[in-house]
Amino acid sequence: MTLAQAVIEGADPEELLRAEVPPVYRAAHIRREEVGMFGRAPHGTMGVDKDVRRSLHVGEVPMPELAPDEVLVAVMASAINFNTVWSAMFEPIPTFAFLERLGRSDPRHDLDTHVLGSDASGVVVRKGAAVRQWHVGDRVVTSPAYVDSEDPVAHHDSMLAADLRAWGFETNFGGLAEFAVVKATQLLPKPRHLSWEEAACNMLCASTAYRMLVGEHGSRMKQGDVVLLWGATGGLGAYGVQLVRNGGGIPVGVVSSREKAELLRGMGCEYVVDRTDFEHLDDEKAWRRFGAEVRRQVGEDPAIVFEHTGRETFGASVYVAKKGGSVVTCGSSSGFDHAYDNRHLWMKLKRIIGSHGANYQECAEVNRLIALGAIHPTLSRVYPLERAADAARAVQTNEHVGKVGVLCLAQGEDLGIEDHALRERIGEDRLRLFRS
Ligand code: NAP
Repeated sequence: MTLAQAVIEGADPEELLRAEVPPVYRAAHIRREEVGMFGRAPHGTMGVDKDVRRSLHVGEVPMPELAPDEVLVAVMASAINFNTVWSAMFEPIPTFAFLERLGRSDPRHDLDTHVLGSDASGVVVRKGAAVRQWHVGDRVVTSPAYVDSEDPVAHHDSMLAADLRAWGFETNFGGLAEFAVVKATQLLPKPRHLSWEEAACNMLCASTAYRMLVGEHGSRMKQGDVVLLWGATGGLGAYGVQLVRNGGGIPVGVVSSREKAELLRGMGCEYVVDRTDFEHLDDEKAWRRFGAEVRRQVGEDPAIVFEHTGRETFGASVYVAKKGGSVVTCGSSSGFDHAYDNRHLWMKLKRIIGSHGANYQECAEVNRLIALGAIHPTLSRVYPLERAADAARAVQTNEHVGKVGVLCLAQGEDLGIEDHALRERIGEDRLRLFRS
C-alpha cells in the first residue's frame, strides 16, 4: 500500500510508518523558467491581467528530505490564499527570489519548481528527530508562520524574527499538494467538528485577522468598538467580521454587490456599505460621502479600519477612522503605492498599524475559537487539486466569497468529521453559510 493510500484509508500510525515515503508527489507549482512570462507591472500597481491559469501547474515534484524540526504532512485539503495569486503572477517579485535567499541556509528549497499554498489540513506521516509534541497519525491544521525558533526575538513575538517566512510563499513545499513539509511549530490540532476542507481553509486568514483586530500587536479592539472592514465577505474580511462580533464590537462591512451584502447580513453584520455606490474612492469628496454614509448608518465614525485593499481605499480609510482611531493594514490588493492626506492622520491623532500574519500563540488562540465553534469556516467552493489553477483564478478575479478550498488527498467533500454532536449544536446553516 502506498503512503497516500494508507492515509486515505485511515491507517493507524504503525501502518503509516510501514508505508514508504514516495520519491515524488503531485503538487500545484510555478516554474522558474516561466518567470517573466507576463512582463513587469508599473511600480506599485497590478498591471495588465496576468492569468494565473497560465503559470500555475499541477504535476510531480521531488520529495524533499525532512529536517529534524520538521514533519511531513499528508495533505487532505488546502485552500487558496491571495499569496498564491501573487506568486503565480510573479508579483510584486518572483517568489523564486525568496527560495534563493532561503536556499543559502537550506538548499533544499532552492528548486526550479515552487510548490505553493499556505494552508492545509492533514495527517502527520513522518516527523524529524527533534519533534516532541506531535506524532505520526495526528490530525492537524497548519499555521503559515515559518520561523527559526533559535532567533531570540521569536520567543517574544515570532513575527519579528529576522527569518520569518510565509510557508508556501517564501518557502517551498507548501500545502497545495499531496504532501507538505512544515516545521513542528506550525502544527495545530484539527478542529474535530470540521471536514478536511472546512478545517483547511481557516488558518492563514483567520489568524491574520485575529492579530489585526484582537491581538496585543494589532488594534486591540474593545467591546463596543465600531470596526469598518473592507472586503467583508472576502478571505480576511469574513473572519474579521466574525471576530468583531464575537468580541463585542460593531462591524461595518464594505462589499461590492447586493448578493455579498445579503451574505454579510446573514452573518449578523447589520451595517453594510456597497462600495459600488462610491465610484472613485481616491479623492476627498468621495471619502467625505463614504464617511457620511457610515455615520448615517451607525451614528459614529469607526474606531478601527481593517485594511488590506491598499491604493484604492487607503485614503478613505485614513479619513473615515475616528479621532484617535486606527487603520490596521496587512496588504495592498489594489496596489501598494498608497496616497492619503496626512493632515487627517496627525490632526486627528490617528494611527496606522502594520500587521503581518500571526505568531504561533495567536494562531493557537484563533484555532481554539474555531474548535469551540465560536468562529466558523467561510468555505464557499471546493476544487480538486488538478484544478488548483482554476481555484486561484476565481480568487484572482474576485469571483469568490470567503475561502476557496482545494481537495488534495481527500477523496470527496464532507470527510474527516469526528465531532458530529458539536456540528449539530452549531447547525449546518451556520457552518455552510458561505456555500449557499
Ligand atoms: P480576497 O479573498 O480576494 O478578499 C479581498 C476582498 O477585498 C474582496 O472580497 C473584495 O471584496 C475586496 N476588494 C478587492 N479589491 C478591492 C478594491 N479595489 N477596493 C475595495 N475592496 C476591494 O483576499 P484576502 O484573502 O482577503 O486577502 C486580501 C489582501 O490581504 C491580499 O492582498 C492579501 O495578499 C493580503 N493578506 C495579507 C496577509 C498578511 O499576513 N500580510 C494575510 C492575508 C492576506 P468586494 O469586492 O466585495 O468589496
